[in-house]
Amino acid sequence: MTDLFGIMRSPRAVLFGNGQRLALGRVAAALGRRALICTDERFAATPEMAALLASLESAGVRVQVFDRSLPDLPVEGVYECVAAHRAFQPDTIVGLGGGSCLDMAKLVSLLLTHGGDAADYYGEYKVPGPTIPVIALPTTSGTGSEVTPVAVLADSARDLKVGVSSPHLIPHTAICDPELTLSCPKGLTAIAGADALTHAIEALTAVRRSPDADIAQTRVFVGKNAFSDQQALIAIRALASYLPRAVEDGSDLHARGQVMAAALAAGLAFGVAGTAAAHAIQYPIGALTHTAHGAGVATLMPYVMDFNASACAADYADISRAMGDTDPDAARLAANAPRHVYELFARIGIPATLEGLGVRADQLDWIAGQSMLAARLVTNNPRPLDQDGIAAIVAAAHA
Ligand code: NAD
Repeated sequence: MTDLFGIMRSPRAVLFGNGQRLALGRVAAALGRRALICTDERFAATPEMAALLASLESAGVRVQVFDRSLPDLPVEGVYECVAAHRAFQPDTIVGLGGGSCLDMAKLVSLLLTHGGDAADYYGEYKVPGPTIPVIALPTTSGTGSEVTPVAVLADSARDLKVGVSSPHLIPHTAICDPELTLSCPKGLTAIAGADALTHAIEALTAVRRSPDADIAQTRVFVGKNAFSDQQALIAIRALASYLPRAVEDGSDLHARGQVMAAALAAGLAFGVAGTAAAHAIQYPIGALTHTAHGAGVATLMPYVMDFNASACAADYADISRAMGDTDPDAARLAANAPRHVYELFARIGIPATLEGLGVRADQLDWIAGQSMLAARLVTNNPRPLDQDGIAAIVAAAHA
């Protein structure tokens, strides 16, 4: 008998370390002879891009490049890429950039394989089968998209961003090279890293720590997922120590590596456990203010933690310990967790209130109503959440 339960999902391989990016040619060649790269104009102009193209060429892989991926991933860009490169019939799709470029690669792979519109797949478990294998090379440390089953995009027909989630979207291989993040400016390093910390906290405290509908249809377990909890705590520990260092000195490659590993661990955690209230509430805030996803979820996180405290004592004590609090009293450790998170975010320049993100008081009711639309996230919150509960969180976060 064991009291451990868990589900893990991950790419077939993760290559991690400085210089690993040059394995791209070899990894792509193992998957076929034609690779489509999804990236953006910024990365396409870098010397790193030239080196990656050379690595593919020397491995005998023909390449086409789509370099017009945009932040927040407007769906039109996905369709443009699919139309432009369908005839190439790529054997692999390489996502190269921030979360937006990685999500672009996943969606292009999905639509080239199964056809239809992106909207056919919005939600969970709508992808009917395997897709063209994706190789993900992140250049930010935050979203965890290199290991997650999720792709997030902006559909101009809808007010809020939308997501596709399916195990078939997990990249085939993640190549994580901390050197690719050296060029991230302070603000991007902070926001992306803060996004990773919210992934870890929401995964650790989620109700549905393993939505296992596709794997074990007869049993959806509610309770601890031993594996995602471990990954979440690894991420929290590393981010508490190294995220401020990476923000303060962007050339600190050791700190960059630790933060990249933490973002990956947080991605493994929320890839099975999901996220909750902070993510549900960020969607309408992002739509209103056009502020970065990571800034929104991070600003909200301490207030969401205050709201959830009564349901999360043991997890909050673990969070405090992971953040270096050595208080021997478990109740005090639990009570201190929201403050530790708030202070870490303050140190790296995350806005302290929703007002700091540009939200007006007269928008709070609308935000609370729209947040309820993310039902999957709302029901994953550790403390039962209704519109009044969300209104209380956003009121506290705005004050
Ligand atoms: P991003 O991909 O939106 O990029 C933001 C900006 O940073 C872009 O202008 C980009 O060119 C620039 N940039 C990227 N790497 C850089 C580098 N090394 N140096 C300098 N500039 C760089 O940013 P992100 O935070 O990585 O991704 C956010 C997106 O990911 C959002 O659309 C969000 O909704 C989504 N997301 C996806 C998942 C998932 O599991 N798929 C999880 C969380 C968030």
